[in-house]
Amino acid sequence: RADIAMYQAKESGRNNIQFFTQEMNQRLQERLQIESALRLAIEQREFLLHYQPKVDLRTGRIVGAEALIRWQHPEMGMVSPAKFISLAEESGLIVPIGKWTLHEACRQTKAWIDAGLPPLKMAVNLSARQFREPDLVQVIADTLHHSGLPAGLLEIELTEGMVMTDVNHVIKVLHELKALGLTIAIDDFGTGYSSLSYLHKFPIDVLKVDQSFVRDIQSQEDQSLIVQSVISLAHSLKLRAIAEGVETEAQLGYLRHHGCDEMQGYYFSRPLPADAFQALLASGKTLTPTST
Ligand code: C2E
Ligand code: MG
Ligand code: MG
Ligand code: MG
Repeated sequence: RADIAMYQAKESGRNNIQFFTQEMNQRLQERLQIESALRLAIEQREFLLHYQPKVDLRTGRIVGAEALIRWQHPEMGMVSPAKFISLAEESGLIVPIGKWTLHEACRQTKAWIDAGLPPLKMAVNLSARQFREPDLVQVIADTLHHSGLPAGLLEIELTEGMVMTDVNHVIKVLHELKALGLTIAIDDFGTGYSSLSYLHKFPIDVLKVDQSFVRDIQSQEDQSLIVQSVISLAHSLKLRAIAEGVETEAQLGYLRHHGCDEMQGYYFSRPLPADAFQALLASGKTLTPTST
């Protein structure tokens, strides 16, 4: 009887393996397809950047923007970064894609300044792989040089996971980046594992409160306490606090009340194509004061 049970387990085990292989194979095919499409995407100029304004909560003015990559594939349509960034990361393709993003964001910002629009700080997301490239500092220095963008108008966004490993090396790289004159933000703050004993050693400028905490400001007291705490933490470390994912007037009011410095979110504007963003900048639109 024992023999029979074992045989059955093996059988069903084998079936499970077959089932998984088929599904995995399908997924692998899909990934390989996206990966080879990604390889072509730079040459074919299928990437573009959208820009989302960052608004100063005291003046209501647009003081910055975040560059967010979009992939317009001829057959797949608009592919969201959530879908392809991790694949680009695993395949290493994020390195050339990231270089393009950095260059395009700097070039565009300089072009807006040259066109007489009010200067704004442009934020660019760096991926983990890109951040670990040995020539990162040189690549950014070259990009600033070629685009002519003043370094003070470039902000790079890193995540906690990227800075909390190999801390001593990271601190060295961050100092080299700071020496170029740019500013550094920690993105999605609160979702990773930050050691507070390291945080104050990093030469950073901004904590971006993750949108998951902002979303629940109205409904969940503990989440709103996290938002309040991150703002206080930023200020006690002499950093700016930026809230992302702000969608409602109530969230805005809360953030203002707790002294958050800047906001970013659909409430003011979605990420926009370059021409629409330029029109928004030119319009001089400001955030209206909270009525209550
Ligand atoms: P992130 O850097 O945290 O960017 C914020 C995301 O929140 C963006 O999604 C933005 O469109 C979205 N968002 C902004 N305001 C609101 C709001 O009010 N409500 C909601 N629900 N969402 C809002 P997106 O553009 O899909 O980008 C997703 C993530 O992909 C980014 O998160 C970033 O981690 C990554 N990513 C985007 N562009 C790049 C890039 O050029 N390089 C790298 N390495 N990563 C990028
Ligand atoms: Mg970001
Ligand atoms: Mg974020
Ligand atoms: Mg996020």
